[in-house]
Amino acid sequence: MSANLLDGKAIAKEIREEVKAEVLILKEQGIEPKMAVILCGDDPASVFYAQSKEKAAAKVGIGFEFYNLPGNTPEEELLTIVDKLNKDDSIHGVMIELPLPSHINKEKVMESVLPEKDVDGIHPKNRGYILSDGPGLFPATPQSCIELMLRSGVEIKGKHAVIVGRGETVGKPLVFLLLKHNPTITICHSKTTDLASFVRQGDIVIAAVGRPKMITKDMIKPGAIVVDAGINEIQGGYCGDVDFDEVKEIASMISPVPGGVGSLTTAIIFKNLLKGLKMQKGL
Ligand code: NDP
Repeated sequence: MSANLLDGKAIAKEIREEVKAEVLILKEQGIEPKMAVILCGDDPASVFYAQSKEKAAAKVGIGFEFYNLPGNTPEEELLTIVDKLNKDDSIHGVMIELPLPSHINKEKVMESVLPEKDVDGIHPKNRGYILSDGPGLFPATPQSCIELMLRSGVEIKGKHAVIVGRGETVGKPLVFLLLKHNPTITICHSKTTDLASFVRQGDIVIAAVGRPKMITKDMIKPGAIVVDAGINEIQGGYCGDVDFDEVKEIASMISPVPGGVGSLTTAIIFKNLLKGLKMQKGL
């Protein structure tokens, strides 16, 4: 058996089309959606990601301001820029690229972004809303895992979902966002004893660890749906946390890396931008 692909590229295109249509409607009302991205330092990968967002924003009609600050920018200066963007009515989303240089207090900066402009869903208030049905903005990667399944026709309700990884960026927020769709959830981590025995019970398995190809065929229940959020740099490219070539032979659906979860992230950030914009404008 060879699994059906959870096709991140196709779904990202679908979401971008929705965003584009929504942006057009807003523009007809005289509203020009716009976001700002702040990057401290010149890490080539981070610069590349920020520039990719800028290109993607242009394609859907979203305005973009890129602040590429030197790596030694004082914390106060960064906070002043965030404050200016918070107060600027023409900016509807503010994203701070992580990691920040070590002299900057990450928590303080994360708290400085207005929650309604926090397109990355990292403000403590938005993190709190994950636990309730509050009107928050939520992190993109966990949302991407869920959208990938929902838009591929997966019924999450009643399934046993096994999440491997409880990181701040993916695993932890994913637990509570996924729970809103009524699965039964098991959470595994580095201290889990006999990981394979838990993963093997999953109707849905979501890997968010950061260890190349650690989820192998023998750990997967035949017919399971496998979502791979991992991104691991290997010689000649990237791979996920799942051994794709092996696992696709036993799963019913599987997301590739690249071309899976990661493909949706920018489109979901734009969705967050529009959601936040509507909160700001009371629409
Ligand atoms: P973290 O490093 O914060 O968390 C990793 C988690 O994996 C921890 O909970 C850790 O357990 C667990 N873990 C480590 N080793 C094992 C093991 N042997 N068995 C079981 N669990 C283990 O990761 P993030 O949440 O930041 O990211 C997770 C993955 O998602 C990474 O590969 C990252 O690159 C990727 N990512 C992908 C994005 C995308 O757009 N697709 C965006 C962001 C991240 P413990 O808590 O016990 O330490």
